[in-house]
Amino acid sequence: MEGDRSPQCGLTTPRSTSVSSDPGVCLRDPSSISSSSGRSGNQLWQRVVVVGGGIGGSLIAKSLQFNADVILIDQKEYFEIPWATMRSMVDPAVADKAIINHTDYLINGKVITASAVDITDTDVITSDGRQVAYDYLVVATGHVASSPKCRKDRLEKFKEANIKMRTSSSVLVIGGGPTGVELASDIASVYPEKKVTLVHNGPRLLGFIGHKAGNKALDWLRSKNVDVLLEQSVDLDSVSEVDGIYITSAGEAIAADCHYVCVKRPLGTSWMRESIVKDSMDKYGQLMVDEHLRVKGRNNIFAIGDIIDVPERKQGVLAQRHAMVVAKNLKLLLKGGNKEIKLSKYRPTVSITMVSLGKKDAVAQLPFTTMTGFLPGLIKSRELFLRKTRKLLGLDHHSVFL
Ligand SMILES: Cc1cc2nc3c(=O)[nH]c(=O)nc-3n(C[C@H](O)[C@H](O)[C@H](O)COP(=O)(O)OP(=O)(O)OC[C@H]3O[C@@H](n4cnc5c(N)ncnc54)[C@H](O)[C@@H]3O)c2cc1C
Repeated sequence: MEGDRSPQCGLTTPRSTSVSSDPGVCLRDPSSISSSSGRSGNQLWQRVVVVGGGIGGSLIAKSLQFNADVILIDQKEYFEIPWATMRSMVDPAVADKAIINHTDYLINGKVITASAVDITDTDVITSDGRQVAYDYLVVATGHVASSPKCRKDRLEKFKEANIKMRTSSSVLVIGGGPTGVELASDIASVYPEKKVTLVHNGPRLLGFIGHKAGNKALDWLRSKNVDVLLEQSVDLDSVSEVDGIYITSAGEAIAADCHYVCVKRPLGTSWMRESIVKDSMDKYGQLMVDEHLRVKGRNNIFAIGDIIDVPERKQGVLAQRHAMVVAKNLKLLLKGGNKEIKLSKYRPTVSITMVSLGKKDAVAQLPFTTMTGFLPGLIKSRELFLRKTRKLLGLDHHSVFL
């Protein structure tokens, strides 16, 4: 699914890149961290700094932690499995598995909880004034999101959102991309007694995949009594839950006790606009990369995930593939010598896209056709790849959950 989906539905914390008074460093070995540009004389390994602890960044940090001195810089202390976010609002127990402290999988690395604000030839500068020196840098800042800094607060937000949802008799979902469709379908299947309205400004749902998939999602939602309004929008600046009436661009009045905004989020690259990689950004703000996923013109800076200009859908499953290619390349480079010619290449991929429709069904976009119903639902909707994603991070080898 696309990476521009908003995980912020129903969570009303303001967007923030604020400087934290908390030093934000989880130190496994306090003596070995250097937050200045100078290299520590006793450092044995080269330093790999990863900016962004999402799907791609967390995997690369985990993969390299025994090959280098790995430092992960993320705005929050935890990694959140994005495809479980909508379900976590409807069923907060899911969030417990979907929100993972970085220190749970990064057992031999360091975590700095701050926003990166600049990159120089030698350092990443953070919002709290640190200079974090790197030999190799991987940028994986995905899409802009506003989430609480610590796991406990994130879990609390899901509980609050769920209480709000349970106590509302009518719900408005704004946005008919995959996030809005998944949320509306989850609410409709878990709370069939609620009146659910989905407003979408485009002519069809799920515009990023084939029209048949969008039509199948529309049929499914309507079969569950979700009121879907296409080609209409709701002015996000004037939405308020106080009076419970939302006027659409077509003048329709929708009564709803609460609303969830599920619209596109900007790419998380604006902080690099004045940095040394500014000339490697395209007009969409994406970082241009070469076939090895190195930022163009830079030998020691890689980029992965939603922010790169590789012509393919923005998907977490692809961000994971990018991470594996870059981890492989970095392992070669870290070994030393002139290994340039052996670097792996990344080839753009057409992947299967699945959008869940409640807990049992889903619609899948395959290369030449679409499929809907129980079978794709079995693959995605029941368990949301939680086990697989956690396993990639080396968690839950033996446990069975959900
Ligand atoms: C609700 C939802 C459902 C989805 N479902 C699917 C699905 O089913 N299948 C699929 O393949 N894809 C899905 N996607 C898309 C997928 O999540 C993204 O493509 C993927 O997360 C991109 O990974 P990434 O590593 O590039 O960035 P992200 O996972 O977005 O992570 C970016 C990280 O960078 C951090 N960050 C940002 N800026 C800074 C900064 N300046 N300094 C420090 N840290 C920073 C953020 O805090 C975040 O941790 C979904 C997305 C959402 C939102």
